[in-house]
Amino acid sequence: MSIKKNPKNSRNRQIGSALLILAVVLLAAYFLIPRRFMTRRKLPRIPYSVFLQQVESGQVTEVRIDNQQIIYLIKEENKPESSIASTTRINDPQLLQRLVDNKVLFGVSPRKNPWFAILLNWVIPPIILVLALQFLMNRGPQGSLSISKSKAKVYVEGESEKITFTDIAGVEEAKTELTEIVDFLKSPKRFTAIGAKIPKGLLLVGPPGTGKTLLAKAVAGEAGVPFFSISGSEFVELFVGTGAARVRDLFKQAKKKAPCIIFIDEIDAIGKSRSNGNSQSGSNDEREQTLNQLLTEMDGFGAGDLTVIVLAATNRPEALDAALLRPGRFDRQVLVDRPDLVGREAILKIYAKKVKLGENVDLHKVARITSGFGGADLANLVNEAALLAARNKREYVEQQDFAEAIERVIGGLERKSRVLSDREKKIVAYHEVGHALVGALMPGSSKVEKISIVPRGMAALGYTLQLPTEDRFLRDEEEIKGQIATLLGGRAAEEIVFGNITTGAVDDLQKATFFAEKMLTIYGMSKVLGNLVYEWRGQESFLGNNGGNPRRFVSTKTQEAIDNELKEIVEKSYQQALDILNHNRDLLENISQQILEKEVIEGEDLNELLKEARSPWEKI
Ligand code: ADP
Repeated sequence: MSIKKNPKNSRNRQIGSALLILAVVLLAAYFLIPRRFMTRRKLPRIPYSVFLQQVESGQVTEVRIDNQQIIYLIKEENKPESSIASTTRINDPQLLQRLVDNKVLFGVSPRKNPWFAILLNWVIPPIILVLALQFLMNRGPQGSLSISKSKAKVYVEGESEKITFTDIAGVEEAKTELTEIVDFLKSPKRFTAIGAKIPKGLLLVGPPGTGKTLLAKAVAGEAGVPFFSISGSEFVELFVGTGAARVRDLFKQAKKKAPCIIFIDEIDAIGKSRSNGNSQSGSNDEREQTLNQLLTEMDGFGAGDLTVIVLAATNRPEALDAALLRPGRFDRQVLVDRPDLVGREAILKIYAKKVKLGENVDLHKVARITSGFGGADLANLVNEAALLAARNKREYVEQQDFAEAIERVIGGLERKSRVLSDREKKIVAYHEVGHALVGALMPGSSKVEKISIVPRGMAALGYTLQLPTEDRFLRDEEEIKGQIATLLGGRAAEEIVFGNITTGAVDDLQKATFFAEKMLTIYGMSKVLGNLVYEWRGQESFLGNNGGNPRRFVSTKTQEAIDNELKEIVEKSYQQALDILNHNRDLLENISQQILEKEVIEGEDLNELLKEARSPWEKI
């Protein structure tokens, strides 16, 4: 694929830029440099008192009085020639009398032509300004004031750089989902013929550098359609309304090239939830308008034969406005996460093909020690290794180059807390297995689907994925308590195995406390408080964002009762988690060792392992 460029446009732009700079410099010179310096040679400036003395002593022969200054000729005794000097004019009513008394020849400067002054002050500056503005407006699509033009980069198909799914690895699920999109783009008729509606938007969710942009390009590459790429932040500019105009223009351009793909990176820049309570700033209006326009365009297109699919990327799906996620918009979401061991090896293989690799290189080993790396990090790693090999004048990249490159790259990533040390990895492994074991035995917990110690998203170092086995609308007390125990299972495992607890459980503790508090204050499940509600469920806005949740006025005594009972629930659940894990100590060890080896355990394998868990309260 290649980027379209227009050489004529860029030359015009260069000339235009030069003209603009010239105009700005002239304008600045006009206003900043005092004009008398431009017209007159600089005269020695004498204090007024000295000037008076000189007049009194008869040295001054001739005086010309200006608006602001007095210029005069002075004849000093020891010099043959008169010299010229100036002094600032002071409102001195006796000056003329003094000059007459001392027989000085004096006069006033002739007045300047007033038309010239008017022209200089009032006509020329506006003309320059108007010209400069006009130029800015006409600077083409890249102009900073070209409000109605979208800044999207357009990639059109060209065999040389065509990106396909084979260039991407480690994100297999995303690839499968996107293959469907390729079909929609390739043969939309097949779907529309039987009355199916082609989806309009798909959201790629995942941390930076995991290949979201690459996936979008690959979809375009596979389908052989043009690809418009723009970042959400590029919509929002100087003036309110710019973003909306740009969205309109972007869709207009895209429709001309349909079928095609529009890729919007960082969609959260415009699609942030509108009811976050910070709507006082002006820029918010702008964002909202842009977002509305985007929604309108998405609702509008797709009529007839036009297939324009919008792919958007974000690493903060939770911040997105609910309106964006509604059916007919970005209703499909695909997770593009950091790759696991197998994925990392596959990505390394892709990039290793592009460099000369020595025979001793073991990419599996490299993949094993790069847990937490995203696709971009791995691409960078291979490149670093190649650079090191070249610097050491080697012809092939060798294992030692990789080892050194990893150290370098990890240094950077560790600071971003994305790479775990061995000890941390061990703690995370036991922590996650703790959740899984307690989750498998407690009532109300959903089925444990996957345990992973690949750092994921922004905060989590590892995760245990539970999927509900059925749709649930009601939960009973025991089930909520079971959930709380599952949340505390991670910390319990840490305590049992290491005799020490870490900060890793912060999120779990928050959720556990939240659930317990909800039991007492909203669901009326408290023994002490009974069927009273102590917290108003805030009126949820229709977009699903809660506008604060103030607690009803409660007496200190009630408050204390809530606190005590809260503590009791959480502590009791924690004890249950400890009991379960102590009872299944060997299994905890076994699964943790396996996960340290494989990083991810899921599906049937996990099921088989968790089946062995035994409840400590089971009657034997
Ligand atoms: P994102 O859009 O998620 O921030 P990019 O798609 O821009 O990430 O990725 C940056 C670069 O990293 C890509 O151009 C590619 O070279 C490399 N890369 C990232 N993820 C992958 C992957 N899964 N497979 C192959 N290369 C990848």
